[in-house]
Amino acid sequence: MALRDGGVRDGGNRIRLGPAGALAAAGGIAVAGLAVAQAGPGVTGLGPVRRAAFRRLAGEGHPRHVALTFDDGPDPAATPRFARVLAERGVTATFFLLGEMASRAPGLVADLAAAGHEIGVHGWEHRYLTLRGPRATLDDIRRATDLIESAAGTRPRLFRPPYGVLTGGALLAARRLGLTPVLWGTWGREWAPGATPASVYGSLTARLHGGVTVLLHDSDCTSPPGSSRAGLGALPLLLDECARRGLSVGPLGQHGWS
Ligand SMILES: [Zn+2]
Repeated sequence: MALRDGGVRDGGNRIRLGPAGALAAAGGIAVAGLAVAQAGPGVTGLGPVRRAAFRRLAGEGHPRHVALTFDDGPDPAATPRFARVLAERGVTATFFLLGEMASRAPGLVADLAAAGHEIGVHGWEHRYLTLRGPRATLDDIRRATDLIESAAGTRPRLFRPPYGVLTGGALLAARRLGLTPVLWGTWGREWAPGATPASVYGSLTARLHGGVTVLLHDSDCTSPPGSSRAGLGALPLLLDECARRGLSVGPLGQHGWS
């Protein structure tokens, strides 16, 4: 699908960030109304307050740390495979869960939390929030947050909107629910047709740097079948490369970010 975590949307009451470079924002927060190329001249053209807000939204953290995040799970077919690799490497990460998926696999949510992973909210359904009104947006995020809290045993504090598209209603809902929105700075593009571990690794490392937040997916539920396998194959390569560069890897909660 053309806009799968990657299309450029602009104008209106929404925020869009993709490593390929587009953020357009309006309404409610300090980065309003700007089209910014990631790490490009647009960022340096911002004033310090707006630049800080942009970096925070993109999950830019401590310069010797990489935040590892996974979206779209928990998926009984894939999430345990990722969890196993992470356990073998002694790494914990942040999992942004869909309420719809978590409701079908609450035990998996508990397993992730018990293994020390940080649990965030990706919404109940994987739909563009621009297709919802503020009330429906609040209901969706609250329903997901409540279910994930009961399954994980702890209240989530982070929110990542489906497709990375934030709306004014989503920002208000997140604030009401005590959730901090965060997007990402580099991604694997596992959902692209023909993705392989090598292509995912290449996409991740194109923008890999100390302080970045990495996006991968531990489910194919919104992607072509097999796409998460490409991400799974790239994960050890990514961890090796971070180690080679002397970068520690962990969840957003250890990212020196908020
Ligand atoms: Zn997603």
